[in-house]
Amino acid sequence: MAVATEREYGLFIGGEFVEPASGEIRELREPATGEPLARAAMAGEADIDRAVDAARAALDGPWGKTPGTERSRLLHALADAITANRKELAELEARNVGKAISSVKAELAGSTENFRYYASAIASIAGRSNPIGGSLLFYSQKEPVGVAGQIVPWNYPLLMATWKLAPALAAGCAVVLKPDPQTPLSVLRIAELATEVGFPAGAINIAPGDGPTTGAYLVKHPGVDKVAFTGSTRTGGEIMRLCSEPIKRLTLELGGKSPNLVFADADLADAIPASVWAIYSSAGQSCEARSRLLVERSIYDDVVGRVTELSQRVRVGDPLDAETQMGSLISTGHRDRVHGFVDGAREDGAEITTGGEIGDGPGAFYPPTVIAQTDNSIRAAQEEIFGPVVTVIPFEDEADAVRIANDVKYGLMATVWTGDPARGHRVAGRIKSGTVGINMPYTAFPGIPFGGYKQSGFGRELALETLDLYLETKSVVTYTGTRPTNPFGL
Ligand code: NAD
Repeated sequence: MAVATEREYGLFIGGEFVEPASGEIRELREPATGEPLARAAMAGEADIDRAVDAARAALDGPWGKTPGTERSRLLHALADAITANRKELAELEARNVGKAISSVKAELAGSTENFRYYASAIASIAGRSNPIGGSLLFYSQKEPVGVAGQIVPWNYPLLMATWKLAPALAAGCAVVLKPDPQTPLSVLRIAELATEVGFPAGAINIAPGDGPTTGAYLVKHPGVDKVAFTGSTRTGGEIMRLCSEPIKRLTLELGGKSPNLVFADADLADAIPASVWAIYSSAGQSCEARSRLLVERSIYDDVVGRVTELSQRVRVGDPLDAETQMGSLISTGHRDRVHGFVDGAREDGAEITTGGEIGDGPGAFYPPTVIAQTDNSIRAAQEEIFGPVVTVIPFEDEADAVRIANDVKYGLMATVWTGDPARGHRVAGRIKSGTVGINMPYTAFPGIPFGGYKQSGFGRELALETLDLYLETKSVVTYTGTRPTNPFGL
């Protein structure tokens, strides 16, 4: 094993691991086995103060003076370091989250590409000068927003952290990032690697801790200029409120209940396995999980049968086994919540065609589960379950499919399967979600904006648009006439 168990991780503040002023060290257990994994320090308010001070000092000092070309070089160097340490990072993440290592390897590749993308995107940071008329001369310049407070969830701890860190650092911001207290390990290691490749002390600070206390304190902190949050819609609403005094810039990446539309003219040989992947990848603990499978009535029974059969063939097991396709859930507590939705669907009269039972044995495992013979109104079709559970719902025609697709409070992602290209684009235009895939299950790629409509949040990640969310625009205006203006004629 590349990863030493029982290691103790400090907070990462000012370029090094430090003891927490809070004095709190928490034991972390592997979700897939229940065995101890590591011990990690948890930040309290004094630790957040220290992290924000370190970030501010970095901005006022070496990091604030680091030019874009050098920031670009550092981001590439960090991507190189992640690649060089990928085996250790993959194992650390798989064990901490309980997630299949095959998924984690893909996430690691996405993380390095993300750093490289923003290393290049630095070249796009520029102001402009346009003719205003008369004797006015104007130019604008971009400046980093300042200290970014970033909060990420437990489902993709490393990937979500890199989605946040890369654009902030590219823009020249300094960061205090709070991972979920259950899953701080991979991003602590990334911060350590960042220091090794030359990021100045204080540019990146990592302070794990509980959300309602430490997280809320970070959000409210007057030394934080911008908040970027990924997590549930409920918490996002609370963060919005907390960001109002003093006012901060804010972006929110929230939950989803994404539809997967399968029309009768689709190539089912492609559509069905891809739809199965699109729900069970990351054990359904994914904001973009296509958890509602909408199927044209004429092929509904056939699709339910084939999805049920493929669900039973998903390889569930040891996250560290390269053949595993689905690991455990994050915790037994979360599994109970997922199971509650399935029981609720039973009570609502739906049929569970496979899964839906908690097995024996250690670990927070839950089987791939299909809910069928129901409509879009039941709780399991409206609420984010965040587990390996798909609800299969029939539709009558294109208009009905679009109506059902949009009939949730979320709008993060959608997939359309059809043999008619014009219909694919037509439906994509009518679905209220940040991303629509046509005949592909889509995963997020650096360069393609990712984010939500409606209650799935606002702002975009992974793209050039994201950089702007970490930059202020300053307009500089002057006068080129022979004499300055004298409006009062004094
Ligand atoms: P959560 O909202 O409970 O927690 C997310 C993070 O917020 C954690 O770090 C937590 O400690 C912190 N937090 C909780 N309460 C807080 C508060 N009052 N103030 C400040 N911070 C607080 O969400 P979760 O259950 O951990 O994560 C799953 C959710 O994240 C799902 O809804 C999922 O859809 C969403 N998600 C969205 C995206 C996206 O890009 N849209 C990506 C991944 C996950």
